[in-house]
Amino acid sequence: MASQALIKDFEALIGKENVFSSEADLQSYSYDSAVLTSVVPALVVRPTSTEQLGQCVKKLYDNGIPMTVRGAGTNLSGGTIPDQSDTVVVLTNGLNRILEINPNDLYAVVEPGVVTADFAAAVAKKNLFYPPDPGSQAVSTIGGNIAENAGGLRGLKYGVTKDYVMGIEFFDATGAIVKSGSRTVKCVTGYNLAGMMIQSEGTLGVISQAVLKLVPSPRASKALMAVFDDMQKAAEAVAGIIAAHVLPCTLEFLDNNTIVRVDDFTRAGLPREAAAILLIEVDGHPAQVADDAAAVEKVLKENGATAVHVPKDADEKFKLWEARRMALPVLARCRPTTVLEDATVPRSQIPAMMKAVNAIAAKYKVEVGTFGHAGDGNLHPTFLCDKRDAEEFKRVEAAIDEMFDVAIKLQGTLSGEHGIGTAKARWMEKETSRGTILFSQRLRRALDPKGLLNATKLVGI
Ligand SMILES: Cc1cc2nc3c(=O)[nH]c(=O)nc-3n(C[C@H](O)[C@H](O)[C@H](O)COP(=O)(O)OP(=O)(O)OC[C@H]3O[C@@H](n4cnc5c(N)ncnc54)[C@H](O)[C@@H]3O)c2cc1C
Repeated sequence: MASQALIKDFEALIGKENVFSSEADLQSYSYDSAVLTSVVPALVVRPTSTEQLGQCVKKLYDNGIPMTVRGAGTNLSGGTIPDQSDTVVVLTNGLNRILEINPNDLYAVVEPGVVTADFAAAVAKKNLFYPPDPGSQAVSTIGGNIAENAGGLRGLKYGVTKDYVMGIEFFDATGAIVKSGSRTVKCVTGYNLAGMMIQSEGTLGVISQAVLKLVPSPRASKALMAVFDDMQKAAEAVAGIIAAHVLPCTLEFLDNNTIVRVDDFTRAGLPREAAAILLIEVDGHPAQVADDAAAVEKVLKENGATAVHVPKDADEKFKLWEARRMALPVLARCRPTTVLEDATVPRSQIPAMMKAVNAIAAKYKVEVGTFGHAGDGNLHPTFLCDKRDAEEFKRVEAAIDEMFDVAIKLQGTLSGEHGIGTAKARWMEKETSRGTILFSQRLRRALDPKGLLNATKLVGI
């Protein structure tokens, strides 16, 4: 709990209604979406303007108080769990204005607390498109998306958050404003500090504004669902689609366990006996969409799809994608604890990775449902367990350890989109090098000499 003097200081700065110090409030900001131990912060402050945000950061720095920035707290790696009990959480959801949408120059300027789906909807009203679409978009914020370099279902064709960041303004640890990038397509003025902030997980500064690239909306789209009686064939079909030089905007995978669980809940009529399904969408000019859909269907059949369904209308298409969107929530209902993993491999290694995930699950006798962005090699093996059962959770952790080893051996990565935080920090050196850890720590110490910004996250400070 913060001192009364500090609470009064913040109340004077940002208003009583934006300073939270009750036990119940503090508990609410002690955890995020990762399966990790919670830490109750000393105070939560919610600035509502850029000036206030800078003043809050400066006050915390001047007083040597640790800080954790928080958007919606949907990250899956512990990035917003306070480092220690005297940490102050700086909430950005009061900075939620879309400052500009420029349809001529195809960019928008936003504050960090804008909710991703609200932004995409505002842009769509002007017939423009902001493609990054994390599954959490109904609540996640643009600041959180940038700080995690969030991906989503459209990564294969459209890329991820980093591909849409043209410029960032942020406060450094001391509260000084830093600006990088611009509203222009090209900008090489100074270091690419905006690039440095992407994926920085609240450790290098506090993002206060972003210029985001927009693209024209696709004019048409077509969805397909392919059914496989063998998971390997589905995985090989993914590689086949890419090898045929077609880039679907979405290319998703669901394994049998996920299909059955989702169908039980949604009654969407999914093929329950299938070993795996692929959900695919192609978009663009209508003529291109027709060509691409035909090419995809051919590859799917050549690779052993037992059936390829094309939704007959918008309602059926919605149901298909709803089934995919329900994968995580439905799996999460099955057992008390859901550990959603993010191991990612080069696309051609998906068959090997899928084989390994299932073998590992069998070896450690743990339940896993796998779905994910197959087109990006980004699988989400989801471990269903009960953390209170220490013996079972130990097996889950051992299985995850082994899974990361396989991902790294296959030239993949620990995390395609969920970040490192504290959840995966201990594996970082394995994927990178000792030099990478030391270099990153030197960078942090130079930019944050008091070690106040999310100190325990990523490589630590
Ligand atoms: C159901 C579900 C589905 C998900 N689906 C996806 C998915 O498809 N793809 C994907 O990539 N992720 C997904 N995620 C993970 C998560 O939603 C993303 O990481 C998202 O970008 C986090 O946004 P947030 O606003 O909740 O950020 P938070 O969780 O609040 O913060 C995330 C990190 O960013 C830092 N941060 C936040 N705001 C700022 C700021 N203004 N300046 C500096 N640092 C800041 C925080 O300190 C923290 O380290 C999912 C999560 C859930 C729960």
